Parts: sequence; structure tokens; C-alpha cells
Amino acid sequence: MTNFDPGSAIDALIDIDHPTKRKTAEWAVENLADPTLAERDRDCRFWPEGWARAAERGITGLMVDPAYGGAGHDVFHALLTFEGLGYGCRDAGLVFGLSTQVWTMQPIIERFGSEAQKQRYLPGLCSGELRASFCITEADSGSDSFAMDTSYTVEDRSAGGSVDDRTAGASVEAETTYVLSGTKSYITMAPEADVFIVFATADKQLGQWGVTVFIVDRDEPGLSIGPNRPKMGLRTTPFADVTFDGCRLGPDNVLGAPGSGASIFSAAMEAERAFVLAAQIGAMERQLDDAVAYSRQRRQFGQPIGDFQAVSHRLADMKLRHDNARLQLYRAAILDGQGRPSMEAAALAKIQASEAAVASSIDAVLTHGARGYVTEFGVEQDLRNVAGGVVYGGTSDVQRNIVARMLGRRSR
Ligand SMILES: Cc1cc2nc3c(=O)[nH]c(=O)nc-3n(C[C@H](O)[C@H](O)[C@H](O)COP(=O)(O)OP(=O)(O)OC[C@H]3O[C@@H](n4cnc5c(N)ncnc54)[C@H](O)[C@@H]3O)c2cc1C
Repeated sequence: MTNFDPGSAIDALIDIDHPTKRKTAEWAVENLADPTLAERDRDCRFWPEGWARAAERGITGLMVDPAYGGAGHDVFHALLTFEGLGYGCRDAGLVFGLSTQVWTMQPIIERFGSEAQKQRYLPGLCSGELRASFCITEADSGSDSFAMDTSYTVEDRSAGGSVDDRTAGASVEAETTYVLSGTKSYITMAPEADVFIVFATADKQLGQWGVTVFIVDRDEPGLSIGPNRPKMGLRTTPFADVTFDGCRLGPDNVLGAPGSGASIFSAAMEAERAFVLAAQIGAMERQLDDAVAYSRQRRQFGQPIGDFQAVSHRLADMKLRHDNARLQLYRAAILDGQGRPSMEAAALAKIQASEAAVASSIDAVLTHGARGYVTEFGVEQDLRNVAGGVVYGGTSDVQRNIVARMLGRRSR
């Protein structure tokens, strides 16, 4: 990340009621309250209108360079905005979809894309006209990402279309065609995406060294998208498998250099792992405010339930988890902003934010009693929505592997 300002970092960190966060939350309450949410959640339906409103507000272009249609804000402004969005918007699926664009797709294209790729994709992604998906996971390769089967061969058209045996990292000529085949699974936004960032190997035996990243347009012959896969939470984010059946791509489709997939993956994951849960941290704050309000209003045994120590301590635990998650998130952002190593901090932030949200969502259900469990009050939705956070962006086990490796207790 660039344009790091220590003053704005400190303000963002200590001001729990920061104006950027508060204004975004107020805007979201007013503009992203969709009366059909419960129905869409049941039917796993995305809300394009909500996406368009968020884009109009500038959320999809927050951090991108103004030269490509963005607002060029720093990471702290973006984190506060997403906290506010998570607080004010009850459609966690919509917010998750937006988070993936801002924290994963756009930074990858901006950092690794050629000038032509940036010109071609970033303005549309910022304006909300385009949406992108990140495609690495497959049915048989999840945590072990580089064990992928999706592969590409290289054809040299000047040699009459024959497939040559160059591996990743070899020099490419304008005449080169890449032929991409394989299926990616669990791809967020795929049914609604226009652009796919796809990891494929030239030779599985090469592991991470054989991987190249391609940018593939939705209308590319050979690309097909499976049906929306219903899931436990984040049901309003569309989610599908994507198949590439002999897609013929040119050098213009290669993101970064051929064979540079591992470094692109590592940069993307480090940012995603740290920041993609910012909105969820905002949702934890809203969840706590709701639980406090309910504990004042609900009476049992002649007193507000919040007067029972068991209930008030549970609320205190929710506050503690929220604060810890937030502090870890901002620490990772400060390190990243200063250009210092942030891998361990990002992994710790991911573990804290994802697991704290699950624990606090269970506490919220318990505090609301049966009202917390039935669907009509919306409390149970949080638990379903946050459960995915311990899986996507690298599971909690994988994050702990990173922390253990930094402690010198694991080799990989
Ligand atoms: C909501 C959601 C959105 C997603 N969106 C995308 C997307 O847009 N693009 C995309 O490419 N993928 C996406 N994924 C997939 C996600 O990245 C993978 O699910 C995740 O990386 C885990 O892989 P897996 O599901 O194959 O589990 P596995 O890797 O099979 O893991 C199963 C279990 O084994 C454990 N395990 C595996 N390896 C180790 C290890 N080395 N040490 C300790 N424990 C280990 C895991 O922690 C887990 O408990 C998404 C997933 C979810 C839930």
C-alpha cells in the first residue's frame, strides 16, 4: 500500500466513532436496507441494485488510483468505510462481494497488471459496471492451493499451431497462445462476474513455480459457469464453479509474468487475510449494540436481563473480542502501510477476527434466547454469515501454520 499517513492511522485506530465509519454506517442504513433481504437470503439471490448504490457511493473505487477511475484513498479510509458498511448493511453477502473486489481483485490488477490491463478493467471495476472473481480453489486443492489441476499449454502460432514444451517463466512472443483447461470451485461472485483472475499450472510437478495467472473475460469461448451453489451463510453472494475448456488466450491475458503466480497469490492472500474481514468487524459492533439494547429492554424475573451478571459479562466478552479484532486489523494495516513485514500480523488478525465473530455470534443468539434462533429477527443470520470467515482466505489452521512458521516451529 502507498500514501501511508501515521496521523490518519492513529485516528482510525483509536476513534471508535470515526466520522468516516459513522457516516458510511448511516448511509448504509438509509440506502442498503432492503425489505426483500430475508427472502433473498432464503433463495440465495444477489442484489445488483445494492451493488450499484455502493458503487455510486464510491465504495468500489475507494483505493484505486484516480488515473484508473478510483478515489485513491489510503487503506485506513477504506478499512473505516468497510467497518461502517458492515455495521450499517444487513446484507452481509453483498458486503462480502464488495470486500473481495476492493481488497483482492483491484489491488492485484493495479499492482501486477500491464498498463493496458489496468486501463481495460479498473475503470469498470471502480464504477461498478464490472465485477471480478478470484479463481484458485479446486475440488481437490484447497489449502494446498498449488496442487491445482487447472493447467495451460503453450502454442506457438508461428510454428503452425503445434504445442511446444516451454514451461512457465520462458519468454513469450506475441505469437503465443495459451490453452487453459480445468475447473475452479467455490468461486465468489462467479455467476455475476465479468472478469476472472485464474491461477493455472504449466506443469503440476513444478508446484508453485509452475503457476501463471490469467485474466479471462466472461464471454471467452470455453468458459462456463456452474449454477449458484447454496451455502450456509453469505447466501446473497453468488458462488459457483467455473470451467475453462480449452480457452485460447493471448499474452494480453497473462497477469504479471508467466510463472509469477506464487508471488501474485502471496500478495493477494496477505491483503485479503488482513483486510477482508474489516466489514465483519463492523458487523460485530452492530451485533454488540443490538445485544446491549436487547439486554436493557428484555425483562425476566422482574429485571432487565442485562442486570444478570452472566448476561453482562457475556456482553463484556463481546466487546473484548471486537476490540481485539479491531486492534489486530489496524496493526496489520499500519505495518503494511509502513512497508514492514506484516504476514504474521495479518494471520493473527484473520484468526482473531474470524473466530471472535463466530464466538460473539453464538453469544448474541444466547442473549436473545429463542428470538436469537428464529429467522424473523435476523440474529441467527450473523452466525451463519460469519462461519465462512474461518474457511475462506485460508482456514484458521492454515493461519496458525503461518504464525507457527514465523515462530520457527514449522518448516511450511
Ligand atoms: C464463503 C467462501 C468463499 C470462498 N471464495 C473463494 C473464491 O472466491 N475463490 C477461491 O479460489 N476459493 C474460494 N473459497 C474456497 C476457500 O479458499 C477454501 O475453501 C479454503 O482455502 C480451504 O480449502 P478446502 O475447502 O479445500 O479445505 P481443505 O484444504 O480440504 O481443508 C479441510 C480441513 O483440513 C485442514 N487442513 C488442510 N491443510 C492443512 C494443513 N496444512 N495444516 C493444518 N490443517 C490443514 C483445514 O484447516 C480444514 O480444517 C471460498 C470458500 C468459502 C467458504
